[in-house]
Amino acid sequence: MLDTSSEKHQSFWIDTTPHTNYPAMPGNTSVDVAVLGGGITGLTAAVLLKRLGKTVAVIEARRIAEGVTGHTTAKLTSQHQLVYDTLIEAHGEEKARLYAEANEAAIDRIEAFVNEKNIDCDFRRLPAYVYTESADMVPQLQAEVEAARRVGLPASFVEEAPLPFPVEGAVRFEEQTQFHVRKYLLPLAEEIPGEGSHLFENTRALDVKEGAQCRVQTDRGRVIAKDVIVATHIPFIFKGEFWGKSYPQREYGIAARIEQTVASEGISINAESPTRSVRTASRDGETVLIVVGEAHKTGEDPDTEQRYRNLEEWARERFGVTEFENRWSAQDYYSFDGLPYVGRIGMGSEHVYVATAFAAWGMTNGTAAAMLLSDLITGKENEWASLYDSTRTSPLATKNLYKEGAKQAMHFVKDRFEGVTEDMSDVVPGQGRIVGRPGDQTAVYRDPQGEVHTVSARCTHLGCIVSWNPAETSWDCPCHGSRFSVDGEVLQGPAVHDLEKKL
Ligand SMILES: Cc1cc2nc3c(=O)[nH]c(=O)nc-3n(C[C@H](O)[C@H](O)[C@H](O)COP(=O)(O)OP(=O)(O)OC[C@H]3O[C@@H](n4cnc5c(N)ncnc54)[C@H](O)[C@@H]3O)c2cc1C
Repeated sequence: MLDTSSEKHQSFWIDTTPHTNYPAMPGNTSVDVAVLGGGITGLTAAVLLKRLGKTVAVIEARRIAEGVTGHTTAKLTSQHQLVYDTLIEAHGEEKARLYAEANEAAIDRIEAFVNEKNIDCDFRRLPAYVYTESADMVPQLQAEVEAARRVGLPASFVEEAPLPFPVEGAVRFEEQTQFHVRKYLLPLAEEIPGEGSHLFENTRALDVKEGAQCRVQTDRGRVIAKDVIVATHIPFIFKGEFWGKSYPQREYGIAARIEQTVASEGISINAESPTRSVRTASRDGETVLIVVGEAHKTGEDPDTEQRYRNLEEWARERFGVTEFENRWSAQDYYSFDGLPYVGRIGMGSEHVYVATAFAAWGMTNGTAAAMLLSDLITGKENEWASLYDSTRTSPLATKNLYKEGAKQAMHFVKDRFEGVTEDMSDVVPGQGRIVGRPGDQTAVYRDPQGEVHTVSARCTHLGCIVSWNPAETSWDCPCHGSRFSVDGEVLQGPAVHDLEKKL
């Protein structure tokens, strides 16, 4: 049995940095660009635009860099598991080359900020590996090396990876990077307030109306802006319906102090499933091992606790870890054709922009998105616009979209009838369950002290029935990934309204 008594349920990045305390929006505000969402995408875009002479207002619903950005693995790489062979096949060599270039340029952009502002964020160049323990996968890795080299990346096939166990082979990229994401973003964000620009926390955007002057309605007043960037991870506004063009996957992370390990010599991820993404970091001068993986679709795993146990067991077996310091989980969105959506929110839209579906590679894709959006807003040409085109339709996307749409419809209908109990007394301490009759379901949580928390089970986004996530003590929507606390507060969009309280 593992000793998890001293393990904090908080991401390593949040646990090792101070909390921010920017003000909430005091009332109506007017700027050139409203940036909704203070993750890596929104904060980077705001800094770039301010440097180009625009006044900006970042509107963050909770605290900056505590969303997915605060729950990442913080690898900075153009090596996104096995992606180039697939991208070439699906989109052609030119788009795959642009993808490689955009992600490499994002690393350079971050490095330039780090150097020029002297940001102490453990930024380090090192090789990146995708490894396999299965001989059957070696040809796939070799094909990836070939594809990556074709689009100009520094890839080679190697027979070893910096891991304390043998591998069958690995794709190695030179000159990749890792950093501490919050040690990087918090100093960068300090640049935003002042000279007519603002950074507001605890301010939730509720609606955006596009016009010659856009109007962003928040729970603290209105923002008038010529342009609006919706960098809320998944856009919450209905135009574009990006939640229908992508799907959310949750992943789990653990951190443990460890003696010096060979894993510090690179960043590694396996090619097979379940994913094991490995890197090290440092805490009080000591080495910390970080392992992330166990992806599954949000709202579809009734035993999320087991995901942590799987990761911890693996870290114990492979690295000899005995004690864990942090555990956390988060979700990212995946498009159906393997490319993020960055650009105008829809056809006919001139001033509202989105950036989403980074497929768990948003440290670089999110930074590249911010670079692209600041170019679009300031009228500068950027060839990544065609790569990330947010208004695209493609046969591949359409086929998978229908499949996913059918699944979501199945949840919408079936979840109203299944797994329903009539009696709240069935819910034991520490457990959450859906109680009631079809069409009138209540999400019931009994806390360890025995107090019962009841809210409507209908997601306020599009009305699907939420499901219980025991590891995070939250209600998660299996349709589009909105998440709520046991008292119904929105933890994550696309929903913007809390679950209705029930007595
Ligand atoms: C477990 C895990 C590991 C990962 N590891 C890596 C990695 O190693 N390398 C890599 O490149 N990528 C990685 N990623 C992906 C990367 O972390 C994300 O793609 C990226 O952080 C997304 O940034 P964002 O700014 O788009 O979203 P977020 O960081 O989620 O920021 C969005 C912000 O918007 C706010 N918001 C939401 N709704 C509203 C609203 N209505 N009004 C105002 N504000 C709102 C949220 O509170 C949040 O702060 C990982 C992802 C996961 C899940």
